[in-house]
Amino acid sequence: MEHTRYRGRFAPSPTGPLHFGSLVTALATWLEARTVNGDWLVRIEDLDPLREPPEATDQILHSLDVHGLHSDEPIRFQSRRHPAYQTAIVQLLENGQAYRCTCSRKQLQAHNGRHPNECTKRHSAPDDAPYAIRFALMDQSGQWQDLLLGPQHQTVRAELDDPVIQRKEGFFAYQLAVAVDDIDQGISHVVRGSDLLDMTAQQQQIFRALGAQPPLWLHIPVILNAQGQKLSKQNHAPALDDSQPATNLVQALLALGQRPPAELTQADVNEVLAWACTHWRRAAIPLTSRQARGITPSTQSHSDH
Ligand code: GLU
Repeated sequence: MEHTRYRGRFAPSPTGPLHFGSLVTALATWLEARTVNGDWLVRIEDLDPLREPPEATDQILHSLDVHGLHSDEPIRFQSRRHPAYQTAIVQLLENGQAYRCTCSRKQLQAHNGRHPNECTKRHSAPDDAPYAIRFALMDQSGQWQDLLLGPQHQTVRAELDDPVIQRKEGFFAYQLAVAVDDIDQGISHVVRGSDLLDMTAQQQQIFRALGAQPPLWLHIPVILNAQGQKLSKQNHAPALDDSQPATNLVQALLALGQRPPAELTQADVNEVLAWACTHWRRAAIPLTSRQARGITPSTQSHSDH
């Protein structure tokens, strides 16, 4: 099905409060949608209660609200979508595009990532061992045109890369849920951090296996901390300071290579967002995290003179 309308989304996993890197992603997704009068949706990817502090979702939604980023449709929670994921798994198993896998990581390592025949060719659920469900990738070179990075090629290696789509503990995995919901919500454009770039060719195959055309992708550079690591919960990225949303948005615009005037930090959130919509230039987004790091408020004002 061809998409006739731009529909984008911001889809955080609620493993902690929003940090600066996630605000940059949220803002980029919002601007890409707003500047073409498209829809912008928020989807909470709460698939793994063991990694999600119970307060994180409310914190994320509050931060988005304070920063003036409001979903055009009711917020979707993946924790309420299990029947849809289950249906997709049944379909993939029936079509031979997924298999029940009892292999441990150790066993796979010992066999260079290859599964024994009884694993990939198994016809029913083993009753003696817990199993994960894996998507059966095809050996293929995935190609697409990234809207920022240009032509992309990724080689997908069947078996070795086969992603888990339902874990042994029963949790549905990101790789499946993201495709099921992007399809169900009619998402035409995915804007996200380039830490997910490596997943794209696999996800293209999952979209097609579910009978859908993959969306268009735009991968923005991930924001690094002073030590050169990706800002993330694991690296103790500080939560956004919700008491200074205009300043945060201006900083996020700088990280996206835009050139907001310094006085915009004194404006209110809606003025900052209005400026951003008028002046948004996708071509100014840095291509790499290193380049993104070079764009700081001080070097920015330098280059403006
Ligand atoms: N939930 C994913 C994350 O927080 C993002 C999913 C996506 O944009 O494809 O990293």
